[in-house]
Amino acid sequence: STATALEEEPIKPAVQVEHTQLLIGGKFVDALSGKTFPTLDPRTGEVIAHVAEGHSEDVDRAVAAARKAFDQGPWPKMTAYERQRILLRAADLLEKHNDELAALETWDNGKPYEQSAQIEIPMLVRLFRYYAGWADKIHGMTVPADGQYHVQTLHEPIGVAGQIIPWNFPLLMFAWKVGPALACGNTIVLKTAEQTPLSALYAAKLFHEAGLPEGVLNVVSGFGPTAGAALASHMDVDKLAFTGSTDTGKVVLELAARSNLKPVTLELGGKSPFIVCEDADVDQAVELAHFALFFNQGQCCCAGSRTYVHEHVYDEFVEKAKARALKRIVGDPFKSGIEQGPQIDSEQFEKILKYIRSGVQSGATLETGGDRLGSKGFYVQPTVFSNVEDGMLIAKEEIFGPVQSILKFKDLDEVIERANNTRYGLAAGVFTKNIDTANTLTRALRVGTVWVNCFDTFDAAIPFGGYKMSGQGREKGEYSLKNYLQVKAVVTPLKNP
Ligand code: ADP
Repeated sequence: STATALEEEPIKPAVQVEHTQLLIGGKFVDALSGKTFPTLDPRTGEVIAHVAEGHSEDVDRAVAAARKAFDQGPWPKMTAYERQRILLRAADLLEKHNDELAALETWDNGKPYEQSAQIEIPMLVRLFRYYAGWADKIHGMTVPADGQYHVQTLHEPIGVAGQIIPWNFPLLMFAWKVGPALACGNTIVLKTAEQTPLSALYAAKLFHEAGLPEGVLNVVSGFGPTAGAALASHMDVDKLAFTGSTDTGKVVLELAARSNLKPVTLELGGKSPFIVCEDADVDQAVELAHFALFFNQGQCCCAGSRTYVHEHVYDEFVEKAKARALKRIVGDPFKSGIEQGPQIDSEQFEKILKYIRSGVQSGATLETGGDRLGSKGFYVQPTVFSNVEDGMLIAKEEIFGPVQSILKFKDLDEVIERANNTRYGLAAGVFTKNIDTANTLTRALRVGTVWVNCFDTFDAAIPFGGYKMSGQGREKGEYSLKNYLQVKAVVTPLKNP
């Protein structure tokens, strides 16, 4: 029945695409080359709009605007309270335009509109209010040094921040990057993902309406190897923040090192374990494990993509996980009650189907799903594999799609070893009622976030980031400010010599 519904005409989004140009120095402008690229509707593969395609010369212009705004503009010098008020006004405007932002996000990305409108845009607003709160609470220290000196540290903005974001949460990634950079008084050149350029342009315009001085926030649409690489290797960018795949993370880190050694924060891939212990309430564990994997069409860097289940509850868990996946409501993301929309694009769609074939070939049991859904767009059936082994590709590599892999374990020491036996270290889920088990696991797991009896709890104040090849540094929370501040030590003798 879902497949039939997918053959119907897609619902028309209640929003117009207003902004498709680059935002440089407070103005919307075409790319210097005049080039554009199409951004596609993942429900159909059809063109939503043609968007200006930024190249290195456009990145140069944007960096020059950001440089000027930092060196000569009012932004870094105005009082922290004034900066805070601009951020708060921007948050109010984002809130006021909740529905347009949500519609653009869903149109360009394919995620359920209700998720955009009720969870993500409110979270976007919350994040900017949170960072506005920090703007006037950033201060250095007075340091007790040996000798007759007055020593203080000044916490200063770094300068021009280059920020490269992915397509899975376009606006939330915008907020994680832009929020702390602005709170600390930096200026920005942000490159959106080529799959989802629309919502950040709309949001950035609202910041200007809120009084953000021109040149402080520049947005360049374009592709990775051109616009992205130009930003990462730019000699006049003082800091780089990147979210995306581990492979691309290595590339941008190298570009940063080879150019001007700009400091880099990276938020990369994952293969997060979700561990269901033997004392777990199986129904609750099934629901949470399902959410941990399938949320956002499985397109989360922290997706619980290795579901480890204790052997005593394994059979019951597999049966119920399959039943839950079969009940998952897939369809036009603008329809109400939809749990899952299409994948972002044909490349990801094909990659997911390839991983599914690899799972079957390597001998995992395909419990349900395994194919595309409907005949157009990029919909994939909710898929569950059981009898998955650690060595299989589907248990080792990031699938980034609605494919759950269930693995069996016997005891805690074993599951700790297996859970940690990966190059990634982004997150983990632990499901147990036993406090000793929870404590043992939370301390043993080598990951940046452990969710105990919950998953994907993202609060503005909770730091997020990876161990090992899942990244460097932390975003959100107080920790994120460090990425955008320089520390200056000022030493003054107490008495003139
Ligand atoms: P994904 O495979 O999920 O699209 P990527 O890491 O390729 O992840 O993309 C994340 C972001 O990195 C996007 O904005 C993309 O354009 C950008 N990007 C891709 N390749 C490069 C590159 N060589 N240099 C800089 N940025 C890049």
